[in-house]
Amino acid sequence: MSRVIAVTNQKGGVGKTTSAVNLAAGLAQSGQRVLLVDLDPQGNATMGSGVDKHALGRSVYHLLLGHAELDDVKAATEHGYDVLPANRELGGAEVELIELERRELRLREALVKVRSQYDFVLIDCPPALNLLTVNGLAAADGVIIPMQCEYYALEGLTDLVNTLRRVRQALNPKIEIDGLLRTLYDPRSTLAQQVVAQLEQHFGDKVFKTVIPRNIRLAEAPSYGRPIFAYDKSSRGALAYLELAAELIKRFPGK
Ligand code: ADP
Ligand code: MG
Repeated sequence: MSRVIAVTNQKGGVGKTTSAVNLAAGLAQSGQRVLLVDLDPQGNATMGSGVDKHALGRSVYHLLLGHAELDDVKAATEHGYDVLPANRELGGAEVELIELERRELRLREALVKVRSQYDFVLIDCPPALNLLTVNGLAAADGVIIPMQCEYYALEGLTDLVNTLRRVRQALNPKIEIDGLLRTLYDPRSTLAQQVVAQLEQHFGDKVFKTVIPRNIRLAEAPSYGRPIFAYDKSSRGALAYLELAAELIKRFPGK
């Protein structure tokens, strides 16, 4: 069985996509079978995996609306994992889904058939608590929450924890927090250290030991359509995501 993990935070720019792509690649490098689902109409995880979002025949949009089968949407990347790609068309799904039955469960139901083919399914959520994100949360066994260690991060986290509580009640009783991931981390910041202390106090070992440093190579890699390992595999960013992959594999040995 696979572990389906939504990478989520309603705040933009906290490193969701960077983490989803590089964790997918890091897990693949570590011998895991991985599917990355791009649930963001921006299509950054798609492009960052080297798949051209402008040239898609079928995308996650068609999958959610029931106009395509998963096998027709799925693309193999050059980096050892598969992707369900997205582009701006997915933005329209938000409105079109409202008319449909079981609108929150579309992704979950689409993934059921392929779960046995993967060890990890990672879902890159958009920066909003919309119907797309709800589809991601309904489909997931757990969430990874990337966060920048700044003052407002804790406030955002409270909102997210409340959302998870509602999703648990209404749609997906089993969803768990698999881990809080400190991203864009600057160890020299005293504020960041204070936020980390509070995080550890509230969430204990739900905070990943691995910290993702601020690393320019991580920001550069997507413009080449590559995960960090195909761009600069000895960078601090690459080592951090490989370490995160190892931490996750250890946390879910039997999935
Ligand atoms: P989100 O998906 O949460 O909106 P992104 O992963 O797109 O966030 O990251 C936002 C911006 O920050 C992007 O330009 C990305 O390249 C950059 N970035 C993300 N993580 C890092 C990091 N650890 N070091 C440096 N830049 C980063
Ligand atoms: Mg993103």
